[in-house]
This record gives sequence, structure tokens and C-alpha cells, in this order.
Amino acid sequence: MVNIMDKVRKFVSGVIPPVEKTEPAWWFVFQGSKLLVYQESSSVSLPCLVDFAELGLKSLSEHYLGRLDNCHCYAVEVIEGTGPPEVMAFEGLRQVYGRLDEDLFWVAARAVQIVDWDRTHKFCGRCGIQLRTSLTERTKECPECGLLHFPRLAPAIIVLVERGHELLLARSRHFLQGMYSVLAGFVEPGESLEEAVVREVKEEVGISIKDIRYFGSQPWPFPHSLMIGFTATHAGGEISLDDTEIEDAGWFTVGHLPPIPGKISIARKLIDWFMAKQGKSSEDD
Ligand SMILES: [Zn+2]
Repeated sequence: MVNIMDKVRKFVSGVIPPVEKTEPAWWFVFQGSKLLVYQESSSVSLPCLVDFAELGLKSLSEHYLGRLDNCHCYAVEVIEGTGPPEVMAFEGLRQVYGRLDEDLFWVAARAVQIVDWDRTHKFCGRCGIQLRTSLTERTKECPECGLLHFPRLAPAIIVLVERGHELLLARSRHFLQGMYSVLAGFVEPGESLEEAVVREVKEEVGISIKDIRYFGSQPWPFPHSLMIGFTATHAGGEISLDDTEIEDAGWFTVGHLPPIPGKISIARKLIDWFMAKQGKSSEDD
């Protein structure tokens, strides 16, 4: 098993903010799903301020997130159309990956989901009454019927299937042109993760697999998935495409890979793991 989220261990999640703001804190400010960053030449950084008010922006909501290395972290939503302060910009999370400090990036991946949950859970889904945010837990409660509304999280499996020196890669219709990746899909209600792995592979490429092993997991905040990674080996059957989702699929050797996903993704970590096993680094050509 590969622990791919080692980096975020320094973060301690919390809901109850400090009584007073007295020290500089990290501010994860979102407009829609875009993060407010200072733009530097090749990198970006985040505002580290005692109070959000120093930015001169008007907030729609503020959420305490916890501490990163003992520095408090807050998520804030600002109204659409608000211009960024000078030398700053609102940028998508995918665009800042690799340019923002990685610990801060993964806290931002939490922050965007909390802001999105707050924005999309204003009223009770059962009786339509305005919800009340809990002060002690990350939930909202209906004052009428008591129904709790937690942040939404959609579990999805992702699996690298190997056959000897080859791995299975497929191209979904919505991928960037030319790109291939390992198979992935959402877990259905009532299904175990292993059942989801078997079903997805069968549905998308028509083959049977065995030796399903847990690889690692990764939050995927686009918009609120949790990717649970597995490896498996080919057990039987030829590739036959589900042409509604998959455009092309095939067995590839590590020396002849098509364009693959970027370093941010667990898909890439699975492919890098397979390449390392075959004695090749993803930096090689
Ligand atoms: Zn209700």
C-alpha cells in the first residue's frame, strides 16, 4: 500500500474557531470554485493575515477549517463579480497545483468543498426550511424536522489493471485530446468498493479481473469526490468497449505510453507505481 497523502498529516481539522483572531492565519478565499492567490513569477501564494477584512473584500460566509502547522485556516466565499485585490487573482485549483505549496493546496481542496457545501445546502431537502449550521460539528440541521445535512462526498473507485508487462489504459469521451488513463467510476449505493471495481472494469472494457488490492486514496475536489485506488490483474476476456463512455482502450507497455494524467492525480500515482515496478521512472522518455 502506498500512502499518497503523507503530506497533509500536518493539518488538524477543526470546526470551532479561536475566540479571538490574534495571529496571522491562512485565508482560502473562493469565488465560485476559484481560489484567491497572490501571483508571483512562477508560483502563487495565499493571504496570511490576522483578519480577512484586511483584503478589503466582502464575505458571504466564513468557515473555520482547522490548523496547518498550528496556523489557523479559514475558508471564505466572496460574491461573484468581485474583482481581486491588486497583484492577486482568482484561479481554478487545477491551475494552481504545482505552483502553490502542496500542503496549502490540499487544505484548499478541503476548503472549496466546505464552501460548496455551504452554498448548496441552504434549505432542508425534506421540508424546505432554512437550515441552521452546527457550531460544533461540520453539519447543518433542520430546525423543523432535525434532518442533518453533511458535506457531500461521492466515493469513486479507480483501478490499474495489469497483464504481465502491460497495463490497461482507456480513453473516456470527455478526456483531453489524446489522453489515456486507468479506469474509474462512482460507487453505487449498496455496493462494496471491491464490487464497484469488478463492475466498472466489466462494464467499461468487458474483461474479468482478480487479485484486487487496495493502493491508496485521495480527495478529488472536482467537485466532491473521494478516489479510492486499487490494483488488479487480468483474469480473462478480451477488451470490448462500452461505447457510451469509453472511446478506446488497450494494453500498453511502459515504454510506449500515450499521454497520461498529470502528477496531481491518483491515476498518475497508480501509473507511476506500475512504471517503477517495471524499472522505469515516469521522468524517463
Ligand atoms: Zn426539515
